[in-house]
Amino acid sequence: MKVYKKAIENLLAKDRIGRCDFHSHSFLSDGVLLPIEQLRRAFVKGHEGYAITDHVSASNLDIIPKLDRDCKLATKHWGFLALHGVELTHVPVGAIEEITEQAVEMGALVIVIHGETISEPVEPGTNLIASKCKLVDILAHPGLVTKEVAENCKKNDVFLEITSNKAHSITNGHVVDVGRKAKANFIQNTDTHRPSDMLNYDEGKRILLGSGLTIKEAEEVFQKNTRDFLTKIYSKI
Ligand SMILES: [Zn+2]
Ligand SMILES: [Zn+2]
Repeated sequence: MKVYKKAIENLLAKDRIGRCDFHSHSFLSDGVLLPIEQLRRAFVKGHEGYAITDHVSASNLDIIPKLDRDCKLATKHWGFLALHGVELTHVPVGAIEEITEQAVEMGALVIVIHGETISEPVEPGTNLIASKCKLVDILAHPGLVTKEVAENCKKNDVFLEITSNKAHSITNGHVVDVGRKAKANFIQNTDTHRPSDMLNYDEGKRILLGSGLTIKEAEEVFQKNTRDFLTKIYSKI
């Protein structure tokens, strides 16, 4: 754990934080790359903070210690922050809290919940339970997110994702509109499954601007919100 703490401290000590992305998939779920190759490519692309958050449910929580091994190697030997986590995906609403607790117990550092994107049959109520659970870090691609969910996210320190994933980004404008009114904390992630999904700082910023944020708000997402997110992760390690 020490290696992750040190890397977070180094990032937080910087005046300006570079590109970070805390939602991606390796071939331990449905991505195409071995975790260490994905981390190598993320590092070379200029990421300063990165997380592999493979899809999980009760069946495959055993990927957590596997991801930990490669993330530790990347963080230790390449000097950037490579975190591991999970994205609870299509988990029944009634089991989300329980599986989240199990994932945390097994050492997952970043907890993402696969939100109610309008492009997949996610069980209604997933957004709401995720927004109420303080162990959750990111509500990913939340689709037609409600005011109640956005307000809960603000209250419980759950970051609301603005995604560049092509299938899930069609509701970004709505997410910004509702999230902004609730003063929710946005985070911009790619949900990378293959190397071409990775974005640099300016490309990520364009996703935020295209979703309706102002230049000032977009900078705040990449600077202040990233710091707040890293501080939250740090407090759990
Ligand atoms: Zn996927
Ligand atoms: Zn994902």
